[in-house]
Amino acid sequence: MSGPAPLILLIEDEPQMRRFLRVALEGSGYRYLEAATGQEGLVLAVQHRPEAILLDLGLPDMDGLALMASLREWSRTPVIVISARGQESDKVGALDAGADDYLTKPFGTSELLARIRVALRHADPEAAEDPVFVLGRWRVDLAKRQVLVDNREVHLTPLEYSLFTTLIHHAGKVVTHRQLLKEVWGGAAGAQPLYLRVYMTQLRHKLEEEPSRPRYLQTEPGVGYRLRVEG
Ligand code: CA
Repeated sequence: MSGPAPLILLIEDEPQMRRFLRVALEGSGYRYLEAATGQEGLVLAVQHRPEAILLDLGLPDMDGLALMASLREWSRTPVIVISARGQESDKVGALDAGADDYLTKPFGTSELLARIRVALRHADPEAAEDPVFVLGRWRVDLAKRQVLVDNREVHLTPLEYSLFTTLIHHAGKVVTHRQLLKEVWGGAAGAQPLYLRVYMTQLRHKLEEEPSRPRYLQTEPGVGYRLRVEG
């Protein structure tokens, strides 16, 4: 990391959670700012232009979805949503409104830091996408549209390939059902999460060593899918 450490803004009303996150982030060398309300968080985001934002959805003064939407009117800063159990629909709403990822409470420090690394990497304008994506036994040449597993070419149908490369473009981050249906099926009438499940099963059979216990092509229950790249 060159230059000053990335600045992370936390918007969270629970003092204990703020304390935990402050220790975790400062201990890992990040610069850190915090807000206890949505309004204060928006002001700090404007004033300090953080490199990433951690946003609790259950704030006292503002709906997290509304905050997300108003932030996205002017900022592309990566946002990781922090949600409590039972906020599933809010979580999906925030992701569809432009949040980059989410963590469900309680979560551990290593998971938090991994998500932040992914968010910062995606935000780096100099990190242009490599035309060749390599992960474990996989090698995907995005220019040639070629997929190799252990150096053997695997044939994917156009929809399977499109689903796979959409996950590659968002590697490490959750992609919601709605985002995938939009990007892969182009919002075609009738496309639904069931299609995704069918195509994901096919992809796992073609690409994963143990399709029933996928290592990389992960299901995020009730939300979408994630191509896991760390841990
Ligand atoms: Ca809260």
